[in-house]
Amino acid sequence: MENVVPLSCWYQCIRGCPGRHDVFEVIYRCPTCDGLLEVVHDSQALKERSGVAWRGLFDQRSAVNRVSSQGSEVSGQPPAASHPLSGVWARREWVLPTLRPEHIVSLGEGFTPLVPSPRLGRSLGLDDLWIKQCGISHTGSFKDLGMTVLVSAVAQIMADSDRRGTAAAVRAVACASTGDTSAALAAYAAAAGIPAIVFLPRGKISTAQLIQPIAHGAAVLALDADFDGCMHIVREVTRDNSIYLANSMNSLRVEGQKTVGIEIAQQLGWQTPDWIVLPAGNLGNVSALAKGLALAHELGLIARLPRLAAAQAERANPFYRAYQAGFAQLQPITAGPTAASAIRIGDPVSYEKAARALQQCDGVVEQANEDELADAAALADRAGLYACPHTGVALAGAARLARRGVIQAGQRVVVISTAHGLKFSEFKVGYHEGTLQDVIGRHRNLPIELPADVAAVRGAIERWLNR
Ligand SMILES: *Cc1c(COP(=O)(O)O)cnc(C)c1O
Ligand SMILES: [Zn+2]
Repeated sequence: MENVVPLSCWYQCIRGCPGRHDVFEVIYRCPTCDGLLEVVHDSQALKERSGVAWRGLFDQRSAVNRVSSQGSEVSGQPPAASHPLSGVWARREWVLPTLRPEHIVSLGEGFTPLVPSPRLGRSLGLDDLWIKQCGISHTGSFKDLGMTVLVSAVAQIMADSDRRGTAAAVRAVACASTGDTSAALAAYAAAAGIPAIVFLPRGKISTAQLIQPIAHGAAVLALDADFDGCMHIVREVTRDNSIYLANSMNSLRVEGQKTVGIEIAQQLGWQTPDWIVLPAGNLGNVSALAKGLALAHELGLIARLPRLAAAQAERANPFYRAYQAGFAQLQPITAGPTAASAIRIGDPVSYEKAARALQQCDGVVEQANEDELADAAALADRAGLYACPHTGVALAGAARLARRGVIQAGQRVVVISTAHGLKFSEFKVGYHEGTLQDVIGRHRNLPIELPADVAAVRGAIERWLNR
């Protein structure tokens, strides 16, 4: 079934200033008030298809995904024709309908597992806990979902300026990053053959995060600054529009990231969980999650919205503080050191969007200290997961909400795991060796060193089994 009305989308100021802007224009902020822009979809046109029909279409495309991932749907067509392996482009009508399919730059993002975790749930006081494994993705974090959209749009912008014979308006893409954004940007830009420039706070990201953009051939600029300092520089450098800004101020990324909420509902048989809990730093992902769920609700795919809970590290908690003050205003802070390095942000770009998103779904903000986040990640590992420190923040935040009775007995909770634990080996080693700052480490586990002697080994195994 094809849409009768052609689908369209445009940028609009989130503060309601008049005017629409082309999503393929190089523009990040409202020219009138300097506020953030957001992509608005023509929901009248999307409503030409019923909620039931949309569900059917999305279900059918994920079934196609299962078949083709076993290699039985080899068509000889370039993957751009359908992108059955992408959880983002499987929902392309809701994401960026005006992107021409030949410009899609996909590395097989999305369609990540949603895993029930009863053992972890019991240890955290949560009766019905599920983990959305967004870290099981090409570059190891959910940032892939947004970057596939942004880099695809840039590919179309560059192709169109080539076709018109004008000098390429865009020469490169750039971002400031706490690690995962630059890894994702570098990978997708490399796949598209677009030069990428990444700005990183020197010494404040993991080895795995640093080596990813290096390996993909990006220009890696390590600055003596924190994330907020890098962000300031990249905004200056991208002012002339020939270098395209890939930070989450760029609203195209939100369009890809918003598919997570839709995917969670779909994986639960189009039932909404009571809560979705996620770690929050620059606040793009909270806004994205809410936006996807709101669209699914408006178009009749889900009957109600879940409540959202954003969790912050206690040392990088400007959103938590703003929430405590009734979202009157954001007071930027200097974020302190935290193992949750990807959310060490003191002046979050998407504050206004996120505050509005939480208010719309009766959301809350919680925080967790270093000891809590490290133990929560360790408990997740003990239950067979492999949690990054940010996921630890979300798990510890969910446990706090359950203790306070905000999350109630029997409620279904989905925690978004934002990155793969394998990107954070320093954190894991530090936990088990007992070297993390302000972390007691109640679940430490160290290798048992023994002579190569059968009796000694038998004795050690007995002691371990009876410990
Ligand atoms: C980027 C990131 C976050 C925070 O997302 P925001 O959109 O900045 O709030 C959380 N966890 C990980 C692993 C990330 O890479
Ligand atoms: Zn405006």
